[in-house]
Amino acid sequence: MTKPLPHPNATTQPFWSGCQQGRFELQRCEACGHMQFPPRLACTSCHSGALGWVNASGRGTVYSFTTVYRAPIEAFKPDLPYIIAMIELEEGPRAMMNLRGADPERIAIGMEVEIFFEPPAADGGYPLPQARLRS
Ligand SMILES: [Zn+2]
Repeated sequence: MTKPLPHPNATTQPFWSGCQQGRFELQRCEACGHMQFPPRLACTSCHSGALGWVNASGRGTVYSFTTVYRAPIEAFKPDLPYIIAMIELEEGPRAMMNLRGADPERIAIGMEVEIFFEPPAADGGYPLPQARLRS
């Protein structure tokens, strides 16, 4: 069994296309300016369907996290233990992703992180946004 891969749809395709070019993009409402993630059909603040895309800085802080010691499926066993973190981006929205290269015993809420892209796991896959501690 392999790890599940992204399956973009019409709403999420611009995000994944951005990942292919090394950009983590957020939706920005053209009516009210609200920024959101993950991609949706309408603004979660004013319900407008007029959404554009902006390139996020890729910087944020650890809002919350958990360390996974038991793999949900066989394909994740080699990664154990691994950290899944909710990252609060500088722009405001929060995004959940792996926090790579950090000691699970030393991670703390509020630590500064940056997004990087892990190469696609398979042909036709997408680079996956991941977080790492900012030095
Ligand atoms: Zn809006």
